[in-house]
Amino acid sequence: MMVTAVFGGTFDPVHLGHLKLAHEIFLKLDASVVLVPCRIPPHRPQPVASAEQRLAMLQLALADEAHVIVDDCELHRDGPSFTVDTLRTYRARLGAQAPLVFVMGVDAFLTLPTWEQWQSLTDLAHLLVLGRPGYEFSLSGELKNWAAPRLTADIDDLSRSPRGLIHHTVLLEMPVSASQIRQRLADGLDVDDWLPGAVLRYIRDEQLYLPVKAG
Ligand code: ATP
Repeated sequence: MMVTAVFGGTFDPVHLGHLKLAHEIFLKLDASVVLVPCRIPPHRPQPVASAEQRLAMLQLALADEAHVIVDDCELHRDGPSFTVDTLRTYRARLGAQAPLVFVMGVDAFLTLPTWEQWQSLTDLAHLLVLGRPGYEFSLSGELKNWAAPRLTADIDDLSRSPRGLIHHTVLLEMPVSASQIRQRLADGLDVDDWLPGAVLRYIRDEQLYLPVKAG
């Protein structure tokens, strides 16, 4: 059955880490991959770029990508963007039997116990946890106790059932982050290897991520 993979994030800005991983998920899971930008991230500082600008950058980045799309559903919802609400919407739309996978980096997974109704996430979807340079998949406490019975070593299990499993994998080592990109732009350093050209041109046109002027 067709797998839907939802990849949530701030995308401030979208970068080649997100894009290459999304394409790899399409290849590995034969999934329809959806990038879902959040309006108000509940767990982290608010984005620098506006919701409209982050969406515009995603649309530019995905213009030539046939297998990955963007869904702006969270941008239309009031209040904080809770993943559990987004997954409920997807589950209702797809029906009970379709495989649904929520994708996150291991850095995000380690913060899971601070997320709204985090233990319900696997009632709605599988979790695909992507390795990220600088972060270990080493679990402890309540996250470990909750995750242990749900872990599977076989990624193909995610397409054989609708929800309930957690799989950790290193698909690609992508040593890139949006915060590094913002910092490099503010410092006047080049970021050409980390962003699609169209996104970089948009950032320059909109004068995004410039240094904060004193005074
Ligand atoms: P920031 O540096 O501002 O925290 P980010 O690069 O982590 O941003 P987000 O939009 O916050 O980008 O990330 C969305 C999701 O993508 C998160 O689950 C994050 O863990 C994951 N992700 C982002 N970059 C990578 C990467 N290089 N490797 C693996 N996962 C990544």
